[in-house]
Amino acid sequence: MGTPMADYGDGTRCVHGGQAAPEPGAPLSHGPVFAAPYHLGGGDFYGRAGNPGWRGLEEAIGELDGGRCVLLPSGMAAISTLLRSVLRAGDALILPSDGYYATRELVRDEFAELSLDVREIPTAGPWEDGVFDGVRLVLLETPSNPGLDVCDIAALAERAHAAGALVAVDNTTATPIGQRPLELGADIVVASDTKALAGHSDLLMGHVSVRDEELAERLVRARTLSGSIPGPFETWLVHRSMATLDLRLARQAENAAALAEVLREHPAVSGLRWPGMAADPAHELAGRQMRRWGGVLRFELADAGAVEEFVRRSRLVVAATSFGGLHTTADRRAQWGDPVPEGFVRLSAGCEDTADLVADVVQALG
Ligand SMILES: *Cc1c(COP(=O)(O)O)cnc(C)c1O
Repeated sequence: MGTPMADYGDGTRCVHGGQAAPEPGAPLSHGPVFAAPYHLGGGDFYGRAGNPGWRGLEEAIGELDGGRCVLLPSGMAAISTLLRSVLRAGDALILPSDGYYATRELVRDEFAELSLDVREIPTAGPWEDGVFDGVRLVLLETPSNPGLDVCDIAALAERAHAAGALVAVDNTTATPIGQRPLELGADIVVASDTKALAGHSDLLMGHVSVRDEELAERLVRARTLSGSIPGPFETWLVHRSMATLDLRLARQAENAAALAEVLREHPAVSGLRWPGMAADPAHELAGRQMRRWGGVLRFELADAGAVEEFVRRSRLVVAATSFGGLHTTADRRAQWGDPVPEGFVRLSAGCEDTADLVADVVQALG
């Protein structure tokens, strides 16, 4: 190929990452390969152990993350496979108290028999002296979902490493082109690619990226033996969708910036957070460690009824959980048990025209 992929910009890397070399007469994009067994004698032999679709997408994502990527069928599959591969009975684990709720539930319910010493800490801290002592794994989530708080990956990784802990970052909200935790010193990236990376609200996917080859092999083995594997069609769709990640994120961030402007001034809105906004408490730190802004904001309306009314009056904002898709969505997080006020909204700016979206949101707020 001549130029190494890493020397190209985000758009080029998203379009070309992990794609087969050009071949006269062959399609530009190869379709999914549907196979359980393969004819023996070549490289692949059984779809659960490995296949060309995974390899292409893993190369594309791993190249952006700066590590070896192991694809898993959802974000939770990525998180649970990682935790199972790294943790032993009685280990101490740090989780974000304000991060993705299912991760806390997984550890509390499914991993109960491991008797883990689980320490929950808010993303924004305080990260007190000695906090990492005796800890096996620190899971950070920045920007956190749904609060959009930010923590200093490089500084915390340095302290955690000094105490002998491994550091994983849930990079779902940022995506691999928005933030590179491995470059900032983390050992592991986990993400739900269901969100902005795939970005069309039509499938689930996840991945873990690591620098350590031995850990990568352990994850691959866990995937092969547990049978928790992505299907070929979803894998192909993610790879196809990822080609437009740079474009989609750019529009989503532009829309989020425009919405932040009007939401900030609006009398019905309080508690607005968007790391890209100069007035956001996390703006300066996020600007240092993130490569670009995302499309997710959060704010509060008076109560649950006010959120329902907002969505009912809007023509473009749809009520849906998840985020990062083409459509602008609003999710009232208290309905899922997140520890937030009843009127707390996570709003994911989609790819609609900015003027249309701003006008719609303003009229829907009344
Ligand atoms: C959605 C999400 C997950 C879980 O991902 P799934 O693909 O739904 O399994 C994990 N972490 C974060 C931050 C998420 O937003």
